Amino acid sequence: MDIALARSWVQAIAASMNEHKDHLTQLDSAIGDADHGVNMQRGFAAALSALDGYQAATVGDVLVKTGSTLISVVGGAAGPLYGTLFRAMGKQLALPSVDAHQLLAALTAGLEGVQKLGAAVPGDKTMVDALVPALTAFGEQAGAGADLSVAAASAADAAEQGMRDTVPLQARKGRASYLGARSIGHQDPGATSTALIVRALAQVVA
Ligand code: ADP
Ligand code: MG
Repeated sequence: MDIALARSWVQAIAASMNEHKDHLTQLDSAIGDADHGVNMQRGFAAALSALDGYQAATVGDVLVKTGSTLISVVGGAAGPLYGTLFRAMGKQLALPSVDAHQLLAALTAGLEGVQKLGAAVPGDKTMVDALVPALTAFGEQAGAGADLSVAAASAADAAEQGMRDTVPLQARKGRASYLGARSIGHQDPGATSTALIVRALAQVVA
């Protein structure tokens, strides 16, 4: 992945958030406050604007700029969490071009950042439930010597499975946890947006 591809990833995420805004909001209206679609759409639109004309010297610059914009523009839980994910990833990628192994290390740092900030573990019905399987799949492929396109496609499939697997879970973190057992039976909005983000990566590196 080079700087242009990192920009394309953010572009693809922004397009996907536009497309799925209503669905994300619908999911968040069932177990939250119905703002996740708007949050994600606004955040990534702002990140695209911030990148417009920005002279990035490394892949990391693109991701740090994206993360910083998400933190400053998006309220709620998802802004700081996704902002941290992208900033932590970016900090690992201070190079003009990175391979699958470097991206894996960055994703790992991103997940660590999210968990440090939000304290969610797998099974809590959050974005972590899509991130962890995505990382595992990506790592398996990268470890077996697969190229980035294969690793990313596998990660996207795993993220989508993780997303679907949040349906029967009871939320233990975030706003949905206030609902207790009533959060069961609904797909987590943040796990859904994470699956979209990983799918966007798979699409641009395909
Ligand atoms: P808010 O809950 O503040 O309205 P959003 O609706 O934008 O923010 O995002 C909600 C999503 O954020 C949830 O679906 C969940 O995936 C994620 N989330 C909430 N709290 C946490 C946490 N502590 N750790 C990880 N993810 C979380
Ligand atoms: Mg919300």
